[in-house]
Amino acid sequence: MGKVIAVANQKGGVGKTTTCVNLAASLAATKRKVLLIDLDPQGNATMGSGVDKYEVENTAYELLVEEKPFNDIVVKDTTGKYDLIASNGDVTAAEIKLMEFFAREVRLRNALAPIKDQYDYIFIDCPPSLNMLTVNAMSAADSVLVPMQCEYFALEGLTALIDTITKLAAVVNPVLGIEGILRTMYDPRNRLSNDVSDQLKQHFGDKVYRTVIPRNVRLAEAPSFGAPAMYYDKSSAGAKAYLALAGEMIRRSEQNIQAKRA
Ligand code: ADP
Ligand code: MG
Repeated sequence: MGKVIAVANQKGGVGKTTTCVNLAASLAATKRKVLLIDLDPQGNATMGSGVDKYEVENTAYELLVEEKPFNDIVVKDTTGKYDLIASNGDVTAAEIKLMEFFAREVRLRNALAPIKDQYDYIFIDCPPSLNMLTVNAMSAADSVLVPMQCEYFALEGLTALIDTITKLAAVVNPVLGIEGILRTMYDPRNRLSNDVSDQLKQHFGDKVYRTVIPRNVRLAEAPSFGAPAMYYDKSSAGAKAYLALAGEMIRRSEQNIQAKRA
């Protein structure tokens, strides 16, 4: 059964896109079927997957507004390992066009319903604001993965985000849960990071992934190379961390299945 995970945080620059691209590649490398949906008009997940956002014919706009068949819109990432719904500036127009529709909050959910089970994981890279695109992501998702930097105001932002998720869920998606909280760009030598990290674990317990993504320049360089970090520098700490995160996610879901059986 396909699991739809929205990668969201209303703060920009926390590692949403980096997480989407590298987690998609890492799960695909373990033979999972993965779809990445780029819902940010900046198209960074598209470019980071090696697809030229200026050249691509179809984007999330065609999926959300024009209701073009999914198979006509989906493309492959540069390595051919995972599927991608691209994004570019056109998707800004989708945000506005959506307002014209009845049931505008569930356009993405409806578009994914027929294809959801072709995949093991579907990731949605959200824009850094709470607009109609993010609402569509939240209503299509089974859960939300929140990447965050362990900075001073991070906990405040996180509380606000979880509050939003709870309110939204009550209206459009009562089953929406928190998939996990991911510490990104982590520097263990920084005392503040460690303090915030401890507080996170106190508040959110095992929702916080054990895997930590270190600050690693290879992760920042890989998009200009047009591929996930594991294809740019396989031995980099960043590539290894996202592979470890994929492993942790797989173990978690296997444990959940066992727990449900017991
Ligand atoms: P968001 O999608 O939340 O705006 P990005 O994933 O685009 O965030 O990351 C913001 C910037 O930080 C990008 O330039 C990206 O390459 C860089 N970056 C992300 N994660 C890391 C990391 N772990 N180490 C170093 N640089 C990172
Ligand atoms: Mg982004």
